[in-house]
Amino acid sequence: MEFFVCLECATVNDTKGETLTCAKCKTEFDADNYKKVLLHAADACRYGYDYRKYYEEQLLERGQINRMPSLVEPTNIFEFLAAAAIGGFAWDAVKTCGTYLVEFVLRKATMSKRDIEFLELMSDDKKLKKFVKYVRAYSKDFTTASEDVKKAIAEEMHADVAGQYGARMTDAARSRNRQAIHDVFQQINKSLKEKKAEQSNYPALKKAAKKLRRELK
Ligand SMILES: [Zn+2]
Repeated sequence: MEFFVCLECATVNDTKGETLTCAKCKTEFDADNYKKVLLHAADACRYGYDYRKYYEEQLLERGQINRMPSLVEPTNIFEFLAAAAIGGFAWDAVKTCGTYLVEFVLRKATMSKRDIEFLELMSDDKKLKKFVKYVRAYSKDFTTASEDVKKAIAEEMHADVAGQYGARMTDAARSRNRQAIHDVFQQINKSLKEKKAEQSNYPALKKAAKKLRRELK
């Protein structure tokens, strides 16, 4: 990581060496646990914001959901902003955090499509408020989304998880072994359940991110 967002005070820090210590409030984060927080934030961006926005716009334009998107993975910069947004910081703190992240984007020699999307998000308060609201709702099982949109996102989640077992499923299907096929289905269901459990687990993750360091002291 080139930089990281402090989960205690929302300050954006340059990463120095292997330790993640906030220059402002001196909180030290465990790197492995911090990565888990970022994975959660990535899911919140993907399912909570990107897919939801896509399906809500489709519902508005076409009156029904019948098209699948091909959305790119969220980049680190979105994940950090999502981590701050879900972290429960006030609007001003999230916005300040995002403004600092903009500086990291501007430092880049070449900007990706996602980088430009990030700059657009940060230049429009209405869009930014929607992002904050949506990634927060992800951790609360999409509280404010319509049932159609929730269902469509759940299918995406299922497809993503099942996709990870694609090769195993092909092998099992080729072997025509009913038990093997059944086992893969069981695995997919288990992984989905874990993903659902993880969805509402952000406060625990945030706590875990700094726990290990404290224990070591
Ligand atoms: Zn801090």
